[in-house]
Amino acid sequence: MITRTECLTYLETLLEPNRFQDYCPNGLQVAGREQIENLVSGVTASQELLDAALDLGADTLLVHHGYFWRGEDPRIIGIKQRRLKQLLINDVNLIAYHLPLDAHPSLGNNAQLADLFELEVDGRISGTGDPAIGLCGCFSQEKSVPEFADNIRQVLAREPLVIQAHDRPMTTIGWCSGAAQGYIEQAAELGLDAFMSGEISEQTVHLARELGINYFAAGHHATERYGVKALGQHLAEQFGIQHQSIDIDNPV
Ligand SMILES: [Zn+2]
Repeated sequence: MITRTECLTYLETLLEPNRFQDYCPNGLQVAGREQIENLVSGVTASQELLDAALDLGADTLLVHHGYFWRGEDPRIIGIKQRRLKQLLINDVNLIAYHLPLDAHPSLGNNAQLADLFELEVDGRISGTGDPAIGLCGCFSQEKSVPEFADNIRQVLAREPLVIQAHDRPMTTIGWCSGAAQGYIEQAAELGLDAFMSGEISEQTVHLARELGINYFAAGHHATERYGVKALGQHLAEQFGIQHQSIDIDNPV
């Protein structure tokens, strides 16, 4: 067991949220119990995840996508009221880390993708953001487009949407989890053979084709399952608390 304050102090040092200009508050978003014993993690603090976490007896929910996004309606009504009420009635902490958890060099979503796909990291891709969140590097061995698409199917259990712009064997790739399809231009500027993110926009197709870089949309949710799970496991090992991760499937 640890106190919530100890846990949050540790997370601040580990993830350095103050380095990021984020779209939401990082750290404690909803205060529940003072003690943390039973941690549940998941990608998005949806009603379904809240219900599942409470069924497991969670005192703390750790997520990548929490609440209070920039520009959203601040009123506590509707879906937001129901979710917050459930957390508060049950005295459950909600802890959320967004960009700091994409970027962390070992526990982050992008570092976890490097491990899962055996990608060698040799740099970062930032898009327009600072600090840089995405990564770039090399495949462990040359890959064709069908080979890497198959790899994504196996590793993420997700059918990728692939925009093929060339049929050279691929040796270099950039990647950034979630909705980072806009980083494709920087990936092309770096001369990479491929770029992978979660989502795809209509214009991404034209950018990929005209920039001559293969694009793999592997799912926003599917590319962001692994950071929060790794962070939960890390906290469990560090502090001897229980941790369970829940995957509420999301096809996007
Ligand atoms: Zn995301």
